Amino acid sequence: MSNNNIKEIEDLIKIISKFPGLGPKSAKRIVLKLINNREELIKPLANTLAKIYKNVVRCKICGNLKLTESDCACSKNNYDQICVVENIADMWVIQNTGIYKGNYHILGGTLPSLESQKNDGVLISTLIDRVKKNNVKEVILATSATIEGQTTAHYIQDSLKNTQVKLSKLAQGLPVGGEIEYLDDGTLFSAFKNRGPVVSD
Ligand SMILES: [Zn+2]
Repeated sequence: MSNNNIKEIEDLIKIISKFPGLGPKSAKRIVLKLINNREELIKPLANTLAKIYKNVVRCKICGNLKLTESDCACSKNNYDQICVVENIADMWVIQNTGIYKGNYHILGGTLPSLESQKNDGVLISTLIDRVKKNNVKEVILATSATIEGQTTAHYIQDSLKNTQVKLSKLAQGLPVGGEIEYLDDGTLFSAFKNRGPVVSD
């Protein structure tokens, strides 16, 4: 399996080895599993990927996934709360805890630092718009306890200081440097439940 000179197979190995947690070795094992299961794996995988590529995009306003053809839930829902997370994985873990069933805003990244506010597609201005347009009552900042996550939270806090919205953040008890995505359900649940107001400095 080491020297496969079919270009398509080599290409697939290269693509799969870019996936999180995988290297060339596991990529080769996955590819082997695929080529040994043409009908059961390759066919449905190819079909599903093609459908996702065609029909699923990220909403340019809230950053959530939506169907290409339909309006995103963020445009029609009337909501009181928005929970702000860095990425979709963070939203999934919070949804998993079952503690919050409201609206999300997925930034799609963090600001590297307050000085360099070139934010590379981080959806902050659309968040501010949503808050103002929808009369949102509470914005829950659920960015990670990393420097970038906190910098981003500060920036959002600053951008919203002229509005009436209540800002809260997850309770202390998140480990410093803790990324939301990797927190266990229990820690996240209690950090969310015990969230407190953001104090301006
Ligand atoms: Zn949306």
